[in-house]
Amino acid sequence: MTPSGAPLTWTHRLLQLGPTFYTRLQPSPVSNPVWVARNSGLLDQLDWPDDLLGDAHLPAFAGNALLRGSDPVATVYSGHQFGVWAGQLGDGRALWLGEAASACGPHEIQLKGAGRTPYSRMGDGRAVLRSSIREYLCSEAMHGLGIPTTRALCLVASPQTVVREDVETAAVVTRVAPSFLRFGHLEHFAARDQVEALRQLADHLIEHHLPEARERAHAWQGNVYAGLLDEVQHRTAALLAQWQAVGFCHGVMNTDNMSLLGLTIDYGPFQFMDGFNPGHICNHSDTQGRYAYARQPNIAYWNLYCLGQALVPLIGDQDLTVAVLEGYKTAFPRALGDAMRAKLGLTHELASEPLREADWTLVEDLLQRMAAERVDYTIFWRRLSQAMASEDGTWSFEAPHWQAVTDMLLDRPALLAWLQRYRERIGECPAAVLGARMLRVNPKFVLRNHLAETAIVQARQGDFSEVVRLQQLLQSPFDEHPEMEAYAGFPPDWASQLEISCSS
Ligand code: AMP
Ligand code: MG
Repeated sequence: MTPSGAPLTWTHRLLQLGPTFYTRLQPSPVSNPVWVARNSGLLDQLDWPDDLLGDAHLPAFAGNALLRGSDPVATVYSGHQFGVWAGQLGDGRALWLGEAASACGPHEIQLKGAGRTPYSRMGDGRAVLRSSIREYLCSEAMHGLGIPTTRALCLVASPQTVVREDVETAAVVTRVAPSFLRFGHLEHFAARDQVEALRQLADHLIEHHLPEARERAHAWQGNVYAGLLDEVQHRTAALLAQWQAVGFCHGVMNTDNMSLLGLTIDYGPFQFMDGFNPGHICNHSDTQGRYAYARQPNIAYWNLYCLGQALVPLIGDQDLTVAVLEGYKTAFPRALGDAMRAKLGLTHELASEPLREADWTLVEDLLQRMAAERVDYTIFWRRLSQAMASEDGTWSFEAPHWQAVTDMLLDRPALLAWLQRYRERIGECPAAVLGARMLRVNPKFVLRNHLAETAIVQARQGDFSEVVRLQQLLQSPFDEHPEMEAYAGFPPDWASQLEISCSS
């Protein structure tokens, strides 16, 4: 770790784009800020000075002072919300403090909830404690699961009131990512026919964040912007496969909430599914179910199509743009197939195409059974992994380790028939070897709504210990943590009553 007192080494490459892309401004102070949580693990990983999260910097992470060397701006973007062009949006409550060198390459720092910006429209520029705790915990939970995401460096609360449906209190999350650029940033300049600004932004992305675009361009007549779209397409496909595999619903997949780097961004009404239901809608405001779990992969494609249209002026060829986007139709199923096969302990190196197809049928049949009975998604996969890890080769489905699995479905004969097929598929490969693998893929702990809610209720009373406990637990969700068994259990009845909406 970098010794105390060392300043961050700022790079601020985004600022080189110029004022067309952002507005310089200062954060708006909040009253009486206190730390809720600090992420020293992330500080270590980035090798940022260990006193960055010391008390002396509390005012900076509340938006009441500036970190030395920061140069705050709010960026402008537009986007499609719920399938409709929404025009200009922008960082309405996010403030970009700057970009600093780190052990993981340059990383940008943003405050979320630090006051109004020129892009706040009717909003107050604030974030409430409730949703800030959810964002803080979920970004770290996603990282623990190995899913690309923006990270959370710290969380500060204030007694200052914020009015939503109820009167709540304010908080500021500090988040960190190589870049916070979204599909909507490119859409913004395309919609305004600002082709040179569009090109500048695309070039910035390729040069600093997505150099893979140049490599991909070889497949597209050397067209580097087609290569850029292709790279975003592949990253998005990989991200969506991981979301689906772990049962994560984002809730608001508007194009302004889609990262150009393929990160999970903008944690709002997200949910890790409890009972498996492909039609599950986690966002109470999503009355049409546009962002239902099973629709997420197609919505990502729809969003990529919007991005493609925004890039047409640079790519210069509509047909080529569409051809690049076609890639998602194979990239996503391939990524999902691999992710689901991994959940069954089947790694992809040796798989021929017919075997992949047969495996996919095996996966689909299981998911259908699970959906029919709304089987708890996380617990089922974990128990299956544990059963495999405990299997000594006798394959007695009456043994306790298998009963923990078969007890989860009412239609036991159907599950036994499926398990028999699975066993045949595995063949001579030792189940325990697969099981050990599966325990590293199928998490024991995810940030279920009710776990976050418990932390929120306590935090509102001024007790932040549950936030810290969850953060620590979710850093290693594949480990057993025997003392934390209750956090791996079925959700309580009240969990299904929780309504999470866009309001945050
Ligand atoms: P979201 O649906 O949360 O991604 O937000 C969509 C747009 O609304 C973005 O431009 C946000 O910056 C903006 N926004 C959301 N909440 C607020 C708020 N409380 N104050 C200002 N802008 C907001
Ligand atoms: Mg957003």
